[in-house]
Amino acid sequence: MTYEPTLEFARHLDEADPLRGFRERFALPRGPRGEPLVYLCGHSLGLMPLAARGIVMQELDDWAALAVLGHEHARRPWIPYHENLRGGLAALAGARPGEVVAMSSLTVNLHLLLAAFYRPSGARRRILIEAGAFSSDRHAVASQIAWRGLDPREALVELSPPVGSDLVTEESIEAYLEERGAEVALVLWPGVQYRTGQAFDLGRIARAVHRAGCVAGFDLAHSIGNMPLALHDIEADFAVWCSYKYLNAGPGAIGGCFVHERHEPPHLTGWWGHERATRFRMGAQFHPAAGAAGWQISNPPILSAAPLVASLALFGEAGLPSLRRKSVALSGYLEFLLDRLAPDVELITPRAADSRGCQLSIRITGPHGRGERVFDALTSRGIIGDWREPDTIRLAPIPLYNSFADVLRGAEALAQALRLQP
Ligand SMILES: *Cc1c(COP(=O)(O)O)cnc(C)c1O
Repeated sequence: MTYEPTLEFARHLDEADPLRGFRERFALPRGPRGEPLVYLCGHSLGLMPLAARGIVMQELDDWAALAVLGHEHARRPWIPYHENLRGGLAALAGARPGEVVAMSSLTVNLHLLLAAFYRPSGARRRILIEAGAFSSDRHAVASQIAWRGLDPREALVELSPPVGSDLVTEESIEAYLEERGAEVALVLWPGVQYRTGQAFDLGRIARAVHRAGCVAGFDLAHSIGNMPLALHDIEADFAVWCSYKYLNAGPGAIGGCFVHERHEPPHLTGWWGHERATRFRMGAQFHPAAGAAGWQISNPPILSAAPLVASLALFGEAGLPSLRRKSVALSGYLEFLLDRLAPDVELITPRAADSRGCQLSIRITGPHGRGERVFDALTSRGIIGDWREPDTIRLAPIPLYNSFADVLRGAEALAQALRLQP
């Protein structure tokens, strides 16, 4: 597509956008004087679908009116509540419905899945992750290693990008596994790296991991709802995600996980993973529900699951292929504008559309502290992105609710901020 850096052109793209109507179905945040903000931070916390309010209110009303009887008689009965989320999550994950479940939260789910899938034995003890992984993932992996009496300094391997680059390539994962795969028990890799915005070819990684005889786990916090996924077909062993980023389910929303149907390893259990028909007999024996549902531990937080019902309905209506097409065009426009209006910044995120999702990560170079000053100037112009130490601004135009005009305003404000903070 050929782009132009004018509001007229951006508006023209917005008018031609078949998904433009979805923006009105989200709460768009406003500044202190009621002025509309340009929200480019859906990679961190997605906006509220307006329909979320009604669904949450329904649960409160059912609780008020029915109390304990709501478990069976709420409009959406609470006992099988995860079933409301199964189809929508499976579609986004590229999974069979029985392979996914909404439960708990991201890091907790990561622990639960590592507890089952990380089975160090003999020389095969290592977990491979990317250098610069999200802190919580690293803490989870390091503590799982230590919990088993092993030494994270030996068993936790962090694969770095080549010197001078921010990006780890799939080739380097393959090369590591070819050389040292016999020492690796499990590879935990992000679908999209949170800091760089790099998207990985998960099928290729899963193949390399399995060739080396290891387990392939994926953290999809920045992928689900952002990139097309095919977890079943690529034979991922497990995956985890949160729902408050691209899935727009609100702060601290219920998380999710995927377990490929070919697996039924021993895992940590609780009563909610027990098959429903006999759960309330409270027997001593554990009979798991089929598939991922058997991995549930506790009865789910209904008030933090309800907004996800609203959000998944929007994804279903818009369709991931259309969302992805618009996402590629939006981030392509942002890239074009940055090159045109702010040529002194460095784009950390790969330029190939296949190697990124919505988010572009922008490195601000120059004197010490300039990056933060530029970011503050951007914020004071009503553009909401986020700042990552030491030098990075992350901006993500989201196809469900951002417009091409948002992207233009964001890029123009960044260019101004750069000029004012030399
Ligand atoms: C957002 C994010 C988290 C946050 O974990 P919570 O358990 O939801 O607090 C963890 N890991 C990654 C990769 C993330 O992007």
